[in-house]
Amino acid sequence: MQQINASIITIGDELLIGQTIDTNSAWIGQQLNDIGVWVKRRVAVGDVKSEIWDALEQEQINSDIIIITGGLGPTADDITKPLLCEYFGGNLVTDEKVKAHVIQFFTKRNRPIIDENIAQSAVPDVCEVLWNEYGTAPGMLFRKNEKLIFSLPGVPLEMKHILSTIGFEKIKEQFELPKVIHKTLVTAGKGESFIAVMLKDFESQLPQNIKLAFLPKLGQVKLRLTGIDITEEEIEFQFQKLADIVKVITYALEDVEVEEILQKICLAKNITITTAESCTGGSLANRITNISGSSQYFKGGIVSYSVESKIDRLKIELDLIEKYTAVSEEVTSAMAINAQQHMNATVSIASTGYLESDDDALRGVIWFAVSNGVKTVTLKSILPYQRVHSKELATNLGLNFLRKFIEENY
Ligand code: AMP
Ligand code: MG
Repeated sequence: MQQINASIITIGDELLIGQTIDTNSAWIGQQLNDIGVWVKRRVAVGDVKSEIWDALEQEQINSDIIIITGGLGPTADDITKPLLCEYFGGNLVTDEKVKAHVIQFFTKRNRPIIDENIAQSAVPDVCEVLWNEYGTAPGMLFRKNEKLIFSLPGVPLEMKHILSTIGFEKIKEQFELPKVIHKTLVTAGKGESFIAVMLKDFESQLPQNIKLAFLPKLGQVKLRLTGIDITEEEIEFQFQKLADIVKVITYALEDVEVEEILQKICLAKNITITTAESCTGGSLANRITNISGSSQYFKGGIVSYSVESKIDRLKIELDLIEKYTAVSEEVTSAMAINAQQHMNATVSIASTGYLESDDDALRGVIWFAVSNGVKTVTLKSILPYQRVHSKELATNLGLNFLRKFIEENY
């Protein structure tokens, strides 16, 4: 089977100077990889006609599919549409369906419509319009010499929507793609290099058409097997081997986030949870409530960042704080115990820590406590990053600690 290549061209001066991070390429790359398209190039160019033109010419030499994002806005710097119209030898004509959508888009939001907005509904008569439900700039698909050239808005939400609803379908219709199967498991508690050592022999015995990928995030590593042109049985056989080796650090045999597992086990075991957060500043509650339906098991949480709020809201004794300091096993445990009672939840989790400190011995120290009123367990960890990263790591560690407690005790 012939390999199908793709190039991604992202357009915008803001991408070149780092004002906007090019997340579009990363997402598109992942998605193309998932459907068996080989991503050959990623090119970023400014809002400059000759640069865009050259990139378009060059990438047709490299690839069968070109996905362009950006430069479709109503502002003067956005020149992609007229450029593509000229390149493919068409004329801009109004698409009545898109025009009605644009008018409705602004009317619904009680915003005035200006000519620049209406101009969004003009499209080259040599393209297929790709419907953009979430914005006013439609996507466009051009065909030339059996190649597909997509032009999509830069706004990530709109770009993803267009590709997911129609874009990838168009690619699958046009090209014969290899069958790609992914199998993912999620580990926590050990770093990527440690796991790599554990899996050295496993990796070396993998057949040519199965690849192992390490996908590390703060506090967890996902392991993904990707098989190309293989059977379900073949990849399942390898996946079982992998799962056996990393069994003790694995918490999910599918590609899920820890908050999704929390939902599953809370519902299955009829458990409600609550949070009492100091240094995580509400991010445990934030992650828990990212899941649709979380109101069924999440009672709510308290962000008790100051000493006063620990005393007032969580009824922690001042003596306890003075004796042990706010970042201590004792105070964190008391926070968890009181929150569990106060919020009338089955299980609570509390966090206290120093995201920053001038004192080397204190910097990054974090305590978690999980309690069901009868049993309270604690975990101490050291956060090695700068503030925001440390908070994210702490959130992953905390959610995992809570998950483990529920799995082990219910
Ligand atoms: P544009 O289609 O060029 O008007 O882009 C609209 C907005 O989408 C820009 O202001 C950026 O915030 C965002 N954007 C454009 N290109 C990218 C990209 N490659 N990755 C992430 N965001 C982008
Ligand atoms: Mg732009």
